Amino acid sequence: MPLYNSIDRKVLKENLIAESFVRKTISLYRYFILDNPQEFRDQLYREWAELNCFGRIYIAREGINAQMSVPQENFNAFLQTLNNHPIFENIPIKYAIEDNGKSFYKLSIKVKEKLVADGLDDGTFDVTNVGRHLNAREFHDLVETGEHIVVDVRNHYESEIGHFKGAIRPEADTFREEINMITDLLKDNKESKLLLYCTGGIRCEKASAYLKHHGFKDVNQLHGGILEYARNIKQMDLESNFIGKNFVFDERMGESVDGQVISHCHQCGASCDVHLNCANELCHLLFIQCEACAAKFEQCCSDECRNLKNSSEAEKQIHRHTMAPKFGNRSIYRKSFRLAKNTNFADSISESGK
Ligand SMILES: [Zn+2]
Ligand SMILES: [Zn+2]
Repeated sequence: MPLYNSIDRKVLKENLIAESFVRKTISLYRYFILDNPQEFRDQLYREWAELNCFGRIYIAREGINAQMSVPQENFNAFLQTLNNHPIFENIPIKYAIEDNGKSFYKLSIKVKEKLVADGLDDGTFDVTNVGRHLNAREFHDLVETGEHIVVDVRNHYESEIGHFKGAIRPEADTFREEINMITDLLKDNKESKLLLYCTGGIRCEKASAYLKHHGFKDVNQLHGGILEYARNIKQMDLESNFIGKNFVFDERMGESVDGQVISHCHQCGASCDVHLNCANELCHLLFIQCEACAAKFEQCCSDECRNLKNSSEAEKQIHRHTMAPKFGNRSIYRKSFRLAKNTNFADSISESGK
């Protein structure tokens, strides 16, 4: 059996649509030290291709992160394959709520340097010594007491549109920056109970291990993240302690948890929680924009970007050189929205330190 897919993607998509059986969409992840990720990858590929599983799976020395779809009829056999590998012992499997089974059209398993590009030097701490996992109810009740330190370990553009009540939300652009800010901010609270949360739980695995390594005694984390919390409080009919929208990394960019809008359009200040990327592809800034501003600026973050978007290819080529070093791979937005407000590129760029 080949260890990689070689069929054309168009054909694969057609095949998927033509499938007559049901698939279950699931996800799982775990930090676990793997001695030979490549070998493990090849084994999994054989086992899962055999069962016609699809998905996007990442394997690194530090563990696995998998989003998959498994044919229902093979589901038990799939669970059996998990028993073949110690990494999967008692691993929680998350099932998608809105599942049409068409989430993936092929099996892709990649070996990566790291599961999450977190910028931390893993050699310096034990990534498997994680915090205590709290289920949604436990986390909910502890947040409600108002006596503990609630920490959002996501980036600022995520917490801007939604967060737990009373949470610390450092203004960080990256996970590395975030974790350093938290460690510093809480350096006098090493005995306190910390309640960490993130989107789906995976960043808390790393963050909690890091904080424990730095002497924090009582580190707890929301198991399954906000995604799981949102699902559970609905089932239990509890009033949400998470306000606003949960930022998610797909086309929707967010899932409302309690229906509240807590953020504002970065251009006019109107109540709004819709993220989009600046339509000037040289900029691509991620920011919040209301419908009125989207119409006015043609989905761009500034007049400059709108003009550039509408300019000739030759004009764009000229700016590519001047804009690329400034905006480069900035797919996230800056701490401030001054860029959009005063459209003074020079200032905002020197502030962003790039
Ligand atoms: Zn607006
Ligand atoms: Zn722009």
